[in-house]
Amino acid sequence: MSTVQVNIVTPDGPVYDAEVAMVIAKTISGEIGILPGHIPLVAPLEISAATLKFPDGSKKVVAVGGGFIEVRPDKISILSPAAEVAENIDIARAKEAKRRAEERLRSKSDDVDFKRAEIALKRAINRIKVYEENV
Ligand code: ATP
Repeated sequence: MSTVQVNIVTPDGPVYDAEVAMVIAKTISGEIGILPGHIPLVAPLEISAATLKFPDGSKKVVAVGGGFIEVRPDKISILSPAAEVAENIDIARAKEAKRRAEERLRSKSDDVDFKRAEIALKRAINRIKVYEENV
């Protein structure tokens, strides 16, 4: 079976590299499945799960915090502000981040940046979901 190289990169450095049979990612206009040889494409990603499918049928799920996917026929790059492979997610930290974000969203204070809290909540919920469904 043919494969395509996938690189997941964040400002902190590379998170995961592999040769995969397929990548499933959630762009802002919907979910896409990318096979080797796909036409070039750049698309913004949702805060979401990206699934890497290996030639042996196994898979790895990565929590991605938005960013972009860049597709070339022989290489797929996921460039994200933050990304964690499911088994590297610190679940206690994600639950604490969720609790903090919810507390900020409940508060009536003018000092709270609600948009920022909403996005932080989305990141935390995404990490919790990816962890609970895959670890
Ligand atoms: P927190 O409030 O817990 O820092 P956050 O959503 O603000 O969460 P980010 O700014 O998205 O965190 O990420 C900062 C760095 O910390 C990134 O390298 C990210 O991969 C890592 N990180 C954040 N939360 C977790 C987690 N629950 N498990 C593992 N790594 C995490």
